[in-house]
Amino acid sequence: MSSVFDDLVGQEHIIDILKGAVAASRRGSDSQEMTHTWVFTGPPGSGRSSAAVAFAQAIICPNQGCGTCNECQSAATGGHPDVEVIRTEGLSIKLEEIRELLTRVAWAPSMGGWRVVVMEDADRLTESAANALLKAIEEPGTRTVWLLCAPTLHDVLPTIRSRCRHLQLRTPSIDSVTQVLIRRDNISPTMADFAARVSQGHIGRAKYLATNELVRSNRRVIMQLPLQLGSLAEAFLAAQTLVDIATEESNASSELRDEKEIVKLQEAYGKGATGRGMATGAAKAVKELEKEQKSRATRLVRDSIDGALLNLATFYRDVMMAQAGVTESIINSDMRSEIESYTSSSPAHTAAQKIGAIMEARMNLAMNAAPLVTCEALMCELARR
Ligand SMILES: [Zn+2]
Repeated sequence: MSSVFDDLVGQEHIIDILKGAVAASRRGSDSQEMTHTWVFTGPPGSGRSSAAVAFAQAIICPNQGCGTCNECQSAATGGHPDVEVIRTEGLSIKLEEIRELLTRVAWAPSMGGWRVVVMEDADRLTESAANALLKAIEEPGTRTVWLLCAPTLHDVLPTIRSRCRHLQLRTPSIDSVTQVLIRRDNISPTMADFAARVSQGHIGRAKYLATNELVRSNRRVIMQLPLQLGSLAEAFLAAQTLVDIATEESNASSELRDEKEIVKLQEAYGKGATGRGMATGAAKAVKELEKEQKSRATRLVRDSIDGALLNLATFYRDVMMAQAGVTESIINSDMRSEIESYTSSSPAHTAAQKIGAIMEARMNLAMNAAPLVTCEALMCELARR
């Protein structure tokens, strides 16, 4: 029988725990195994939120997570009254948002079982928001299960951390990602292998790459940049290209959504409403939404640049592998000849320095450094032979 846990690639070590907890939740609410608060941690792409959503489905499914019933499907698509998935678009989760959420989950679950809240970016809770959440978690006798996701346990406030059961996800192997792309997404074996390899175990990114020609051609442009750094002028151009591509890619995904959200909001206020109070209310709400969208766009561009830099780092990593003579583990299998020609023309120790420079640029970007300036400084560093 199929199960919602089938697609949790490489996470066999936690699936038994989750299944045990679901079984325990059926036996009675005070069972030891069914903890009310869980933290899922793991590197980007390991599928923390997929694991949390699968667990949520299994908790409310009459068949403990069949994946096919109404409960399972509505839980996954956000249509189940007892399952709430909080996805953060902005840079932080604020106190008001948590207060609103707590009002929504204050009622008993509609189906009489459990209410489940999945919070995808618990690391983005502001301190006051985290404290408000803590109070709700500590409330005795509640039927709400909290599933928090974060990169590491240290990203969660210690007071919350100490009340959670912790599950650490692993980065799935390239082979297991390939198999999922073939089986689940009907992607050809050659494409699946390529996408899994260059995405380094990041399932979501692998699927995106395998199914999107524009993303693949953008990647090719980015991956050629290390070979085009002959002068300072070329280094500046390369920085501009990288930032442009990252911006274009993230804008393409956010513009459509931004527009839909504004139309929806205007509809909520009643399109063509003539009352003066109504009109100012709507205008204020639209302005508020636009502000949020702007902060989300900023985050998306930064995420996209970070992804491009990680890709670039794999080029120099492959150069190191080639210099060490380990060519079978090359990530960018589509660039073997470029890697070879770069390897033969650069001193052996420089690739590691380049990777160091890329990681430093990523760290600076994470601390809000200006993207273009950061990339320019990086490309000048990469241009040095
Ligand atoms: Zn089901």
